[in-house]
Amino acid sequence: MKEDIKVPLPVPNYLLSTLETKCARCRKGKMFKNGISISLKRNMEMPDNCPVCSQPLEIEVGFYYGTGYVSYALTVALSVAVFVAYWVLIGISINDNSLYYYLGVNIVVLILSMPYIMRLSRSLWLSFFVKYDPQWQVTDPEKPERNIEGQMKN
Ligand SMILES: [Zn+2]
Repeated sequence: MKEDIKVPLPVPNYLLSTLETKCARCRKGKMFKNGISISLKRNMEMPDNCPVCSQPLEIEVGFYYGTGYVSYALTVALSVAVFVAYWVLIGISINDNSLYYYLGVNIVVLILSMPYIMRLSRSLWLSFFVKYDPQWQVTDPEKPERNIEGQMKN
């Protein structure tokens, strides 16, 4: 669909664009080069800048180290959600082995969702530091001050 630049665009929803791992500034550009993949390298490959608004996606050296906390929180939240779902749908009792079956199911769910959780953590992390810019089509993104050539992407 072709969009007319002069018409102000509706603001894309924060939650949806974050869940879709879109750039935090324009909420349109994709943060990742490839589709979700079981290959760690392919899964996490990112362009240097947003392909739509040219927002730098790594705004300082080691920027994404902090995603460890985000993915931990997401993993705990997912485990709780699986626990509740298991409890409601199948039932958990301390008198049989159902708690162990839940743990087995949870491990499978966590492994399967890991590639997406890693991406979602980066998307959330970037959204904590880069705000949506309604003027993204006409203004330049903020220049990162602490980028050191040759020390990025580690
Ligand atoms: Zn963008």
